[in-house]
Amino acid sequence: MLFGHKKHREIPHVHWKITQRCLDLIVESSKSNYPQEFGALLRVDRMQRDTITEVVLLPGTISGDSHAIFRLHMLPIDYSIVGTVHSHPSSLALPSEADLDLFGHFGRIHLIVGVSSHGHVSWKAYDYQGQAVSVSVV
Ligand SMILES: [Zn+2]
Repeated sequence: MLFGHKKHREIPHVHWKITQRCLDLIVESSKSNYPQEFGALLRVDRMQRDTITEVVLLPGTISGDSHAIFRLHMLPIDYSIVGTVHSHPSSLALPSEADLDLFGHFGRIHLIVGVSSHGHVSWKAYDYQGQAVSVSVV
């Protein structure tokens, strides 16, 4: 198998960053899609590959859980794409079971944006195991 289910994948430690501009776009998109979910892919810069600079919208984005949003067979082969972002119509930016399944199959860094019914936005980043990781806004 090309992608074996090793318990501990050897992934070099990365100190992830995201540009303020990209984060603003994500927050605005999440708010404007509320109460539906917003989903997109995350693209990093081409030099250091540790700074999320761009979101890439998937064709035919639909509401629902992350499996519905991220139809993995539609993913482009592009090594600058490092993970996903999606919103929850909830104040909790916590991964669901479906999210954890997605994280384990694709990508290295995943953002979840929680949008409360009052429009308050919070976000968290997770690695492929669903463990919270810190991301600096630059
Ligand atoms: Zn989710």
